[in-house]
Amino acid sequence: MDYFSGHISDLIEQLASLPSIGTKTAQRLAFHIISMPEEKVERLASALVNTRKNIRYCEECLTLTDADKCPVCRNERRDHKTIMVVETPRDLAAYERTGKYEGVYHVLHGAISPMLGIGPDDIRLKELMRRLEGDVKEVIIATNSTLEGETTAMYISRLIKPTGIKTTRIANGVPVGGDLENIDEVTLLRALEGRTEL
Ligand code: ZN
Repeated sequence: MDYFSGHISDLIEQLASLPSIGTKTAQRLAFHIISMPEEKVERLASALVNTRKNIRYCEECLTLTDADKCPVCRNERRDHKTIMVVETPRDLAAYERTGKYEGVYHVLHGAISPMLGIGPDDIRLKELMRRLEGDVKEVIIATNSTLEGETTAMYISRLIKPTGIKTTRIANGVPVGGDLENIDEVTLLRALEGRTEL
């Protein structure tokens, strides 16, 4: 990339380091950014910096947000007695896009994976159990249908059993090995509606 000036090469390199952006796309984006009005570029840059600076975990569901509580947890119209357990904030976003789920969430930030040495203490399970000491009527386990997601679902359901709280698992409408965020809304809704009690 020596044929570009230092700044342009640096910009392309930074963009190319992002997931699913190859060198060609990075070049295209870089030249697009260069051609943008300066104030637009400044808005983009400060959006990046401000988001990163202000990001924190929701004190209730642990999703990423920029306030003490995320918009879902802040919303009093949501059913706070139904908690859907997901692996990542992106999974939460996928269910929010369906616009049909009325409960709240709990984000684990990962899944149990003996192969990768990720145990129950490495994901946000303790926080979930603490929430269940409150008034909860159902826990919907919506971890991915991967080996790790299934292992995690089984582990959680065993953990919750003694509390007597109803625990359900989303249906297998979600293809095995599928990441929740890549699945269309109809399939997600079907998986949610077809959930079974554990
Ligand atoms: Zn929240």
